[in-house]
Amino acid sequence: MEHADRVRALLVSEQDRIGARVSKLEHDIAALTSARRSAVDDDEHDPDGEPLSARWSLLAGLLDSARDDARQAADALRRLDAGTYGVCAQCGEPIPVGQLEVRPFRERCVACTP
Ligand SMILES: [Zn+2]
Repeated sequence: MEHADRVRALLVSEQDRIGARVSKLEHDIAALTSARRSAVDDDEHDPDGEPLSARWSLLAGLLDSARDDARQAADALRRLDAGTYGVCAQCGEPIPVGQLEVRPFRERCVACTP
């Protein structure tokens, strides 16, 4: 039980960290979007147009992956509640602790990960 509580605390703190990353990226993208819009509203040739869209693509990619991490964190917490956390979803064997320390949201053992 104590172990499960420790795992839960770890997963929740990871989830908080990821949530903060998602919020920050959303904020950055919103700021960038309004910067682009005002550049267009000004109806001026925008020499920064390219770099802005490149930056936007970069942030959008980071946000996608942060949201994916958030989903994995939520899944891991659900598995913890269901009592299946740390059990490989494929072979049903316990996932070695060392592998979970590297990737706490791991759903499969290294051998079963494509
Ligand atoms: Zn496995």
